[in-house]
Amino acid sequence: KKLGIALVGLGNYSKGQLAPALQETQHCYLSGIVTGSPDKADEWKTKYNIPEKNIYNYENFDQIKDNPDIDIIYVVLPNAMHKEFVVRAAKAGKHVICEKPMAVTVQECDEMIAACKEAGKMLSIGYRLRFEPYNREMTRFGTEKVFGNIKKVIAENGMSDTEGWRLNKALAGGGSLMDVGIYAIQGVRYTTGMEPIAVTAKEGPKKDKDRFKDIEDSLSWTMEMPGGIIAECKTAYTNEMNKLRLEGENGWAELSPAYPYKGIKGETSNGKMDFPEVNQQALQMDAFAQAIKENKPSTVPGEMGKQDVKIIQAIYEAMRTGKKVTIS
Ligand code: NAD
Repeated sequence: KKLGIALVGLGNYSKGQLAPALQETQHCYLSGIVTGSPDKADEWKTKYNIPEKNIYNYENFDQIKDNPDIDIIYVVLPNAMHKEFVVRAAKAGKHVICEKPMAVTVQECDEMIAACKEAGKMLSIGYRLRFEPYNREMTRFGTEKVFGNIKKVIAENGMSDTEGWRLNKALAGGGSLMDVGIYAIQGVRYTTGMEPIAVTAKEGPKKDKDRFKDIEDSLSWTMEMPGGIIAECKTAYTNEMNKLRLEGENGWAELSPAYPYKGIKGETSNGKMDFPEVNQQALQMDAFAQAIKENKPSTVPGEMGKQDVKIIQAIYEAMRTGKKVTIS
């Protein structure tokens, strides 16, 4: 049986990526929606053939506990709302997928993990690139030392058309680092298979002081990894960047662009990489549905999301203080 997924928050990512992906999944399907807009509810109901009884709003959301059509709740709201809805989903006795960044503080992540554990439900984070062949190949290159020991990783992700809640610190929790820089952190983590020991960081000049009143526009940071590996990272809200590069003793590999939904390209010192294009979100959601069915742990669990939030907070501290910050 396919597991039923309810999307919470029908914004750009749900509409443009997750709902279409759920038309391709083998182990799960779009069975419900949770939205604050009656207009969107009507539109989605018709387009995806969703029964009225599987449509909820933010107030009656908790009644989802009585709905057997919904096995998994997927939280796709602004970052600062993730915690509340993940905890409520767990209390409703449902498995949960939460979008990245998992939450805005480490303490929130702990509460989310605890709530799912207490409910005996699984929690997974929307790390789609962990299911994407080019990025997986970077993991193989790094962890199997295909180019010898890694010396350096360069990871950059930035965009230039940011608007809405992402510019509001209370809803976003931070700026470009939280939203897109997190892909660079993930890239370094899966390419090396290691966790950073310490970070230094420097905020870039703000291109627009009004828009970026409360949050960083651009930021560059360095992560010291075990074994003397250095990771040099950058992010921005006013500059397109998209790269993941590994430099080893005997060669290199680079994805550019590395993190989009489609059109990832890769090259190494031995030649071009060539993988089929996949639906990342479909693979990610199917992997979670399968893990639930087979009672196996998620490969992208809450703990992985929490570690990113911990690294992000260390980078912010380094940015504020100008000092090196150790990560325990
Ligand atoms: P969006 O602004 O397009 O959608 C946000 C949704 O939340 C909207 O439907 C909006 O109505 C709803 N909402 C409810 N309360 C709100 C409030 N107080 N303020 C603003 N909106 C409110 O955002 P999005 O791009 O869909 O991002 C949603 C989440 O998904 C974020 O956590 C983001 O980081 C994540 N995301 C992940 C990926 C990925 O590739 N994994 C891509 C895009 C977004």
